[in-house]
Amino acid sequence: MASIELKGVEKWFGEVQVIKGVDLAIEEGEFVIFVGPSGCGKSTLLRMIAGLEGTSRGQIMVGGRDATAEPPSKRGLAMVFQSYALYPHMSVAENMGFSLKAAGVKPDERARQVAEAARVLRLEEYLDRRPRDLSGGQRQRVAIGRSIVRDPTAFLFDEPLSNLDAALRVEMRYEIAKLHQTLKSTMIYVTHDQIEAMTLADRIVVLEAGRIAQVGTPKELYEHPANLFVAQFIGSPK
Ligand code: ADP
Ligand code: MG
Repeated sequence: MASIELKGVEKWFGEVQVIKGVDLAIEEGEFVIFVGPSGCGKSTLLRMIAGLEGTSRGQIMVGGRDATAEPPSKRGLAMVFQSYALYPHMSVAENMGFSLKAAGVKPDERARQVAEAARVLRLEEYLDRRPRDLSGGQRQRVAIGRSIVRDPTAFLFDEPLSNLDAALRVEMRYEIAKLHQTLKSTMIYVTHDQIEAMTLADRIVVLEAGRIAQVGTPKELYEHPANLFVAQFIGSPK
């Protein structure tokens, strides 16, 4: 059974159609990356999967269940926001445990889950600090930690590294790859950066103006791009 499946998914904003008949099955534990130029619909498609945008037509299945009409909180998916979305007045532990607290999880259980997430992300020594007393990479890990504690069916990332400097981007790319190896969770990751896509993805979905231009492993796309658009985007020699 696919972890997440899109069937004939379409999206209009008023008269403008921005997602056009997208069919895609994402397997459990798969790391799938949506790539494509700015404005091609990557964020919209991810937000539709998260339930932050409605679906104009088609179905979104999560864990075999029709989630098309479900609100974000029912889908069991975690949207990882960028590090600047941390609460500045809360400690690292409070930031990571916030959604659990909101969901009514008891303090003992909250502390246990936060400790486990901190272990995975190597943040154990920083739990009492405020975000401003952390490095950029540590802050980004806290942002991820806030999602991990909820043990989601899948993680959804929208260009999580785009605001970071080049060195930190490389560090965080490695962190995210390691996180995927450790948690073995389904991950859907949006980027316009070919290098990120080629190094992180099990499969890449190339979007062109709201349609899937090609789906394949990095190797397949590089060696057999379906058309010039994909070839140019992936940077393959075709
Ligand atoms: P990407 O993330 O690939 O850069 P987006 O999904 O953000 O692309 O946007 C796809 C298209 O949809 C763009 O043309 C954008 O202007 C349009 N769009 C996105 N959000 C809205 C909205 N809330 N209302 C109207 N148009 C939107
Ligand atoms: Mg976007």
